[in-house]
Amino acid sequence: MPQGVFKGMTDRQRLFRQIPGVDRLLIHPALQDVLASHPKALVLKAIHGVLDGIRTDIKEGRITDQDQGLADESLVARVIEMLAQLSRPSLQSVINATGVVVHTNLGRSILAETAILRFRAIAGGYSNLEYDLGQGRRGSRYVHVEEILRELTGAEAGMVVNNNAGAVLIALETMAKGREVVVSRGQLVEIGGSFRIPDVMRKSGAKMVEVGTTNKTHLRDYEEVIGPETALLLKVHTSNFQVVGFTSEVPLSDLAALGDRYGIPVMEDLGSGCLVDFSGYGLIKEPTVQEALASGAGVVTFSGDKLLGGPQAGIILGRADLVAAIRKNPLNRALRIDKLTLLALEETLRLYRDPRIAIQQIPTLRMICEDYPSLSAKAERLYGLIHLSGADCFSVQLTDGASRVGGGALPLQKLKTRLVCLIPDRLSSQEMEVRLRSHSPPIIARVERDRVMLDVRTIRERELEIVARAVRAMGAVRASEKGA
Ligand SMILES: *Cc1c(COP(=O)(O)O)cnc(C)c1O
Repeated sequence: MPQGVFKGMTDRQRLFRQIPGVDRLLIHPALQDVLASHPKALVLKAIHGVLDGIRTDIKEGRITDQDQGLADESLVARVIEMLAQLSRPSLQSVINATGVVVHTNLGRSILAETAILRFRAIAGGYSNLEYDLGQGRRGSRYVHVEEILRELTGAEAGMVVNNNAGAVLIALETMAKGREVVVSRGQLVEIGGSFRIPDVMRKSGAKMVEVGTTNKTHLRDYEEVIGPETALLLKVHTSNFQVVGFTSEVPLSDLAALGDRYGIPVMEDLGSGCLVDFSGYGLIKEPTVQEALASGAGVVTFSGDKLLGGPQAGIILGRADLVAAIRKNPLNRALRIDKLTLLALEETLRLYRDPRIAIQQIPTLRMICEDYPSLSAKAERLYGLIHLSGADCFSVQLTDGASRVGGGALPLQKLKTRLVCLIPDRLSSQEMEVRLRSHSPPIIARVERDRVMLDVRTIRERELEIVARAVRAMGAVRASEKGA
C-alpha cells in the first residue's frame, strides 16, 4: 500500500486496516484441525461473527489500539471459542433448583422412565400409528389413547390435540361458532400471557356472553341469558389465581342440570387435568377429571403436561356425539398430535392404572408428593457434598421453605421443603445466581431475601453431585481471583 494513503488516515481507519481478511484466518494453522472436524459454513459463520464484533468494537471506541486483540492468534482463539458456542445445541438440559415442579419455562413435566424407554423403537422405526393391525387397513391415531382414557375417567369418548389451548379452541369452534357461549365473569382468566379466554373465544368465532360478577355468579345469572342462540355453557378452572372471601361459583353439577333442562351442553376447561385425588397426600383438593365428567360435563379439556405429568398435549373427553363432532372438525388436522407425543401420553396414562405406581413413577407426581423428611434428608446430602473448604466468599446453610406446584395448578398450595441456601459474602447473590446459570449444565436457582435458594424437591438424585461441584467451584474461582 502506498505510504501516502496511510498518512491521511485517522487512528480508527488504521485499526480497520489491521483487521485480517476471512481468507487469511481460514488458512491459519490453528484453524486446520477445527476445519477438519466442523462444517466449513459454520467455521465461516464464526469468523464473520468475530470480525463483525471487532468492527463494532472499533466503531464504538472499545478498541483503540492494535494490541487489543487484533493479532491473528487472538482472533483465531476467539473464532474457536465462538465455534464451540455455535456447535452447541440450543435446547439443552438444565437442573431445576427452583422448587417449582411444573415450571413452564423449564419444560413443564418430566416424562416417566417407561415413556422415555419406548422412544427409540417408535421414533426410529415404523409403527401402527394410523394402521389397524387386526383389519389390515387404515386406522385412527386416537385409538392408542382413547380406550385407556375412557377406562381411567369413565368418559364416553376421547381425543387428543397438540395442547390444551388447542383443545379449548377446537371445542368452542365445533360447538359454538357463530353462536353464544355463556361464561362467568369470575372465570375470564389469562394463563401464561398468551392464553386468554375472551381472545380464544373470539378466535373460535363464538360470541361470549358474560354473566355474574368477578366474585359471585349464581345459577340464575346463567339461566337469565339462555336464549335461542345459546350453544354452550362454559366453566373455566381459574388455575393460577383464586378469588377468596365473599365469593360463590356455580357447581358444575348445577350448571349441567341447567344445561340439561334447556338441551345445552356444558364444557369445563379444567386446565391441569388431575387424575388422582391429591387430598389423600395432604394437599388441597383439586377437582379431578373423573369428578368433572361424573358431574355431567358434556366436554372437559385439560393439559397433558401439567398435573398429569405427561407430554404437551390437549385432552378432550366427554359425550360421544360431541367428541365425534370435534374430531371431524377440519381444524383437527392443524392441531394434530404428533406420534412421539402420543407414545409418551399412552405410557403416562398406563401408569395411572395403579395410582400408587403413578405417584412413584411419574416425576411430576413424585416431586409434588415427596414428603418433608425425605426432602430434608436429600438437602442434608447436598449440604454434605458441598463441604466448602476455606472459601469465604459465601456460606451455606440449611433452611425450611416452600416449593410450588407451578403450571397454574394449586396456586395456594405451599409444599413444605428444605432448602440449601447460599448466603452472600464477597460474592453477591446475583453473581452466584448468574454463575450457576452459566454452569454446564445450567443450574436454575431462585434468589430470595438476598440469598440463593436451592430447593432439592426438583433436583434429581443424580444431579446432587453436579450441583455440589458447581457450588464448590464457585468458591474456588473466587478464591483464585482474590489471589490474583
Ligand atoms: C394451562 C391452561 C390452559 C392452556 O393449556 P396449554 O396446555 O398450556 O395449552 C388453558 N386453560 C386453563 C384453565 C389452563 O390452566
